[in-house]
Amino acid sequence: MQQTIFERIIAREIPSTIEFEDDRVIAIRDIAPSAPVHVLIIPKRVIRNVDDLAEQDAELIGHVFLVARDLARKYGAVDNGYRIVTNCNEHAGQTVFHLHFHLLAGEPLGRMNSRPPRPSGSTRTMLFEGGLLVIAAIALAAVFNSINPRQIPWVKKEYERTQASQSDLEKYLAVSDTAAQSKPIDVAVNTPTPEPTKTEPAAAKATAAPVASPASEKPMNSFVADPGKVLEIGHDAFVRLMSTGSFHLIDARTPEKYAEGHIASAINIYGGEAQSRIPDIIQAPRDRVILIYCDGGECELSHHVADVLKQFGYGPIFIYTGGWAEWKTKH
Ligand code: AMP
Repeated sequence: MQQTIFERIIAREIPSTIEFEDDRVIAIRDIAPSAPVHVLIIPKRVIRNVDDLAEQDAELIGHVFLVARDLARKYGAVDNGYRIVTNCNEHAGQTVFHLHFHLLAGEPLGRMNSRPPRPSGSTRTMLFEGGLLVIAAIALAAVFNSINPRQIPWVKKEYERTQASQSDLEKYLAVSDTAAQSKPIDVAVNTPTPEPTKTEPAAAKATAAPVASPASEKPMNSFVADPGKVLEIGHDAFVRLMSTGSFHLIDARTPEKYAEGHIASAINIYGGEAQSRIPDIIQAPRDRVILIYCDGGECELSHHVADVLKQFGYGPIFIYTGGWAEWKTKH
């Protein structure tokens, strides 16, 4: 087996500055000192590291420490202090696999448990970079909002999502059977809309006409107003409510999506612009239920519109949660 560098120093094959030597140990100056005093105390018998020590080595190791103590005294390092350390294997940074003890002294030696620097970016740097990204995102959103009418909401509003119960539906559907007899259900899908008015952008339509009910249907006398009430409904309830023939139907998606296709008789009030459509909204008669849909799922856009309508005392308002995504698969 190849000799360690310390064996060759002990054999005088390699020169070194010997500070102490007896039959069991040798103490030499470290070739690359980490402190003003940096001496290696090396047992002459080859032991790989602390992990290879045997019971009978206890006396030898005791001797190493006494040699170290004496050397520290010789260097006048006792009052200010010194450190004796040994490394075992890779994580400790052992480079010479022949047991040895470092005696360090002559200056403040720092904390022993300091960790090596991270290869890239300290926590502080990462936080700094993360902060910069957040600031950049906020600045971009502010610029976008200042030039774009379809603003990014600063805070995502959490809407109360209440599912319509059977009794809710019975209450509001009380008129449906009668109405359905007098008017067939108009639930055709326009893809694309054949009527020019249905493909007009929402803004143009908004100035042309306020929110309107489908056709010139006369509202049923038995309409039960419930101002501010917003309920979510599924497909069947939505169809049944439409069968009353007396409702406002609102498509809350973007004008572009509305133009591509929408439920017949729906008017377009894009959820992102509901606030700016208030003047149109408040002209709509309050004598019928309001049905709203968007893409389906979370129904954020529908809830935006419902929220505005609510403020002006409209209700009941029903949000069809299947939205356009479900509707087009079923019709
Ligand atoms: P360790 O990193 O714990 O294995 O310690 C090995 C030490 O041996 C290091 O501090 C090296 O600077 C030191 N060393 C390596 N070669 C020599 C040499 N020829 N003479 C004196 N010290 C040496």
